[in-house]
Amino acid sequence: MSDYLVRALAFEGSVRAFAARTTDTVGEGQRRHGTWPTASAALGRSMTAALMMGAMLKGEDKITVKIEGNGLVGPMIIDSNAKGEVRGYVTNPQIHFDLNEHGKLDVRRAVGTEGTLTIVKDLGMRDFFTGQVPIVSGEIAEDFTYYFAVSEQVPSSVGLGVLVNPDNTILAAGGFIIQLMPGTDDETITEIEKHLSKMEPVSKLIERGLTPEEILFEILGKENVRILDSAPVSFECNCSKERFGNAIITLGEKEIREMIEEDNGAEAHCHFCMEKYQYSVAELESFIDEINA
Ligand SMILES: [Zn+2]
Repeated sequence: MSDYLVRALAFEGSVRAFAARTTDTVGEGQRRHGTWPTASAALGRSMTAALMMGAMLKGEDKITVKIEGNGLVGPMIIDSNAKGEVRGYVTNPQIHFDLNEHGKLDVRRAVGTEGTLTIVKDLGMRDFFTGQVPIVSGEIAEDFTYYFAVSEQVPSSVGLGVLVNPDNTILAAGGFIIQLMPGTDDETITEIEKHLSKMEPVSKLIERGLTPEEILFEILGKENVRILDSAPVSFECNCSKERFGNAIITLGEKEIREMIEEDNGAEAHCHFCMEKYQYSVAELESFIDEINA
C-alpha cells in the first residue's frame, strides 16, 4: 500500500477530518537525510502534519512549517502543498536518545520545549498568511493542536506517529487532524474524546495495517464519517540544476570568477533533499556570459 491522505467530514459537517499514511514518504526523508530514530520521528511527525495542512489548501497554494526549538535537532523546515508533495530537513539529522518513560521515541527532548512553531501559507498573488506560536510541548502533535487553537481559532485534535526499525528505516508513519467547526454540539465532542482516549497511538494503527479511512472510523465512528476524497502523498523536491544555476547567476560575475579560479567549478547542494549539482568551469563561464549579455 502506498502513501495517501483522505479528507472527510463527520457529524453532518460539523467536524472536518484528515488522516494520512506516510510510511514511505517519511522513509524517503529518512534515507535522504540519514536521520537517526529520534530525529526521524521529529521530522516525520512534522512532515505528516505539513502534508495534512497542505490538504487544507487549494490549487498552487503552498505551506512552510518551521519548528525552531532549543533541542539538539535544531531548526526543522518543511514545505508542503495542495498536491500532496512534501520535502523537509532537520538541521542535525544524527540525533537519537533513549526511549522516554512511555517507551516512545523522545521527540520532545530532541526538539526542545522552548522556541517557536511558525506556519507560512503562500496563497498565490503575493498573498501570505503567517502564524506563529511558542512551542508548548516539543512532541509536535500538541504543538500543532496549540497552533490551530491560538492562531486559527479552530479547536483540533492532532495525532502524529512514527515507528522506526532497528536498522533506522521507517516501519510506520501517519497521522490525523480532527477539527471542530463552529457549533459542534457537546455530545459530538464527548463522543470524539471518548474514542480518542481509548485509541492506540496512530503509529501503531498504521503498523497494524489500518488505512487512513479506518483511522478516521476509529476516532469518529464509521457511521458518522463521510469521506470526501483521497490523494497520494510523497516526498518531492522541486530543486533542479537550472534553479541552482539561476541562484549562482544572482551572485554576480566577481563571485563566479572566484569559483572558477579558486575551486575550478562549483557544487550546489539542496538542504531539502540532499541532491548535489556540479557546475564545470565552462558552465560557470556561460553564466558570466549571461550576466554580460
Ligand atoms: Zn532538493
